[in-house]
Amino acid sequence: MKKALLAVAGLSLLLATVLLVRTASYSAPAPVDTTADTHAPDEQQIARHLSEAIRFRTISADMESASTRAQFAAFIEWLAATYPAIHTAMPPQQLGVDTEHPYTLLFTWPGQREDLAPILLSAHYDVVPVIPGTEGEWRHPPYGGIVDDTHIWGRGTLDDKGAAIALMEATTTLLEMGFQPQRTIYISLTSDEEIGGDHGTAAVVQNLQDEGIQLAWSLDEGSFLLDGFIPGVDQPVASINIAEKGYLTVDLVARGRGGHSSMPPRETAVDTLAAALVRLKQEPLPGGLEGVGAGMFDAVAPHMPFGKRLLFANRWLFGGLIESVLEDQPGTAAMLRTTTAPTMLSGSIKDNVLPIEAVATVNLRVHPRDTIDGIVKHLEQVIDDERVKVRVREGRSASRVSSKDAAGFQAIAAASRATYGPQVIAPGLTIGGTDSRRYEEVADNSYRFNPMVVTSEDTHGFHGTNERISIDNIVGATRFYRQLMEEAGNE
Ligand SMILES: [Zn+2]
Repeated sequence: MKKALLAVAGLSLLLATVLLVRTASYSAPAPVDTTADTHAPDEQQIARHLSEAIRFRTISADMESASTRAQFAAFIEWLAATYPAIHTAMPPQQLGVDTEHPYTLLFTWPGQREDLAPILLSAHYDVVPVIPGTEGEWRHPPYGGIVDDTHIWGRGTLDDKGAAIALMEATTTLLEMGFQPQRTIYISLTSDEEIGGDHGTAAVVQNLQDEGIQLAWSLDEGSFLLDGFIPGVDQPVASINIAEKGYLTVDLVARGRGGHSSMPPRETAVDTLAAALVRLKQEPLPGGLEGVGAGMFDAVAPHMPFGKRLLFANRWLFGGLIESVLEDQPGTAAMLRTTTAPTMLSGSIKDNVLPIEAVATVNLRVHPRDTIDGIVKHLEQVIDDERVKVRVREGRSASRVSSKDAAGFQAIAAASRATYGPQVIAPGLTIGGTDSRRYEEVADNSYRFNPMVVTSEDTHGFHGTNERISIDNIVGATRFYRQLMEEAGNE
């Protein structure tokens, strides 16, 4: 008995030592020294320009209407009038796969050296509509471009006109400074990101392919400097995302007998379908904290308070616990696996008629570890009922995973640090879709990051009400892009 107790005590001591040693070696690196920015951007002017840009209702979902197309055309004219130096130095190509929508702009800033692979900086200036009936919930009118002491308000400020304007401001400053890049810099302002990029972004990619151009890397939206998202981490986390999830929509179609609802059989098509949906809920796609999902936490964990650091430093022991904590938040849960979300249901056409067919539409966001075929197999196996068919409506796999060690990632991280000071740099996974999934066809690496500091409160504005950006952020983004073009353009 005594021996056993001693053995247990010895083992516990050994375990405690291992945990402590691993935790200690898992501390945060010293913050990088950041240099002050000497070129002061004109804050009021940048805010005014973004405010003007917000007033154009560039709603790509309404592109079929002539009045909306006029808004896109007017925005392009406004850009030319507002940024004449850029338009003189590098007149943009107006691109569109079909000639009805030539509203995507591609600026080419030729480099001095042909041996250096070009880079592409991108932002989209189209926006999502404001849901009819919610205009009154906006503190300021969504297309008013109101500027108060601290913020610019309106649809597109964060997603993603802010970045488009910051790119234009930064390029103008560099031209004024007489800067000439060594490597060619492409800047694309796309017009249809919110509806899939089939017209504009696709045309940019086609254009580069026709010219035989392979980019070293591309940078587009897809995450931010996240402030206060992770409890206990006091520095902002620059989530420079190296991959994005794919998109799969399936219909689950259950068949039944039909007939009069006064004499229902033991099981109707709706019952069969409901059972299938419950099984999907109970058995999600396998997932966990490894690969691209883990990279984010590996970077952030050393900056966590001791208790959490101890958990992350000893994932071999606490992996299950960590994953169950991450599962509790939809945002972090989505990084662990392919998510499954039933979104639409249909059954009978009348209340007293039994359905012959009941259909559930399920939207899945594909983790880089999964394939479309593999997911469909999983669904069929889990449902395990031949009366329920799985029909793919639309599917595309996740993006490639770009390198977090490549020069592009390092340049983006350096520019972010130079702009915003000490921060945690973390390679992340974008859980939505962006233009980058197209750019990866012509780029060795594609990164997703907007150089702006957001809190979780700010994120409610995305595609929602009261979208806004702080003046500090739009000015910061301008400094970031200038720094990035100076550094990356010259190495
Ligand atoms: Zn966007």
